Amino acid sequence: MRGMRLSRLAHLNQKRKAPQPAPSPLCAIAYILNMLRPDLLLQPTPKGLYCPPGDFYLDPVRGAVERAVISHGHSDHARGGHGKVLAHPDTLAIMACRYGTNFAKSTQALEYGETIEINGVTVWLAPAGHILGSAQVVVEHKGLRMTFTGDYKRRFDPTCASFEPVENTHVFISEATFALPVFRHPDTGHEINRLLQSVTDFPERAHCIGAYSLGKAQRVIRHLRLAGYDEPIFIHGSLEKLCAHYQSVGIDLGTLVLATSDDTSRAAREAFRGKIIVAPPGAFEGKWAQRFPDPILGFASGWMSIKQRAKQRGVELPLVISDHADWDELTETVREVNPEELWVTYGREDALVRWAELEGRRARPLRMVAYDDEAG
Ligand SMILES: [Zn+2]
Repeated sequence: MRGMRLSRLAHLNQKRKAPQPAPSPLCAIAYILNMLRPDLLLQPTPKGLYCPPGDFYLDPVRGAVERAVISHGHSDHARGGHGKVLAHPDTLAIMACRYGTNFAKSTQALEYGETIEINGVTVWLAPAGHILGSAQVVVEHKGLRMTFTGDYKRRFDPTCASFEPVENTHVFISEATFALPVFRHPDTGHEINRLLQSVTDFPERAHCIGAYSLGKAQRVIRHLRLAGYDEPIFIHGSLEKLCAHYQSVGIDLGTLVLATSDDTSRAAREAFRGKIIVAPPGAFEGKWAQRFPDPILGFASGWMSIKQRAKQRGVELPLVISDHADWDELTETVREVNPEELWVTYGREDALVRWAELEGRRARPLRMVAYDDEAG
């Protein structure tokens, strides 16, 4: 039942499905004969996953490296200052928005499904469904195919291409941000309707919605538009460039108004009543937020399913909207990809490893870096 739902949602969201490169015919035989051990192709290091034959890192975040392949633009995966950077064109554009056009010595864009050789290692990208431009990185060498998910989710997101399972994956390297059975995210439309209902019920209050500036903010806005909300939406200045990039690639966010005015008059304040303001969560804690009359504070994050977290942050309207796979999405995806071996990283590694072992699967935690995804 669950599997049917996932595939139906994936079907709805196939904006740019790319053909997947065929695996080498050597694949299955090579793996069985153990010609290339997976940890000789990708090694967990404190800097990130390192590929010795290709001499490149995946998502290195501790210090600069000569050559990096980057899964997506979030700052816990994409840093500036590397030598050569290979990524999806939207990820390169997002990095330029955030770090300036000189964020690397040189860059190379790779579309989904397009292959490239790096020192004899084949690399290609498949959509990860996490944010605009997000990609799974597929690394192949001597018949071994390893798929690194970066961050991913399976449910409908109108701002990016949906996750595509990579066939014939020997080693699947999955994120685990919400890898506990307690994490089961509700339907996104349900959460958006709660926000719209609140706007209807409290037309005299400003609705201040905290949303991470890359991905979540644009997704919340696009979902509001799809739900028929056509009022101008006010945004914090830090969202301006990223929203403009999303709009430039055809993601219609409707009329956005910068809430940057220094006008502290009563009339300016009154204009925010009954309106929706979207900003990074921290912005609502500062002076900038004092302009909003009688605010209702909301926060769109997978972490909002933990009531205590919402309470600690003073969130009156917690919206459980996540850009990461929940427990069911993670386990369904492992079953669907059905790799020879599962590696788990970024989050609650042990629970997913334990689940996989109970299913009779070979699995290991990577324990690369201390990880805390506040964006959720
Ligand atoms: Zn991310």
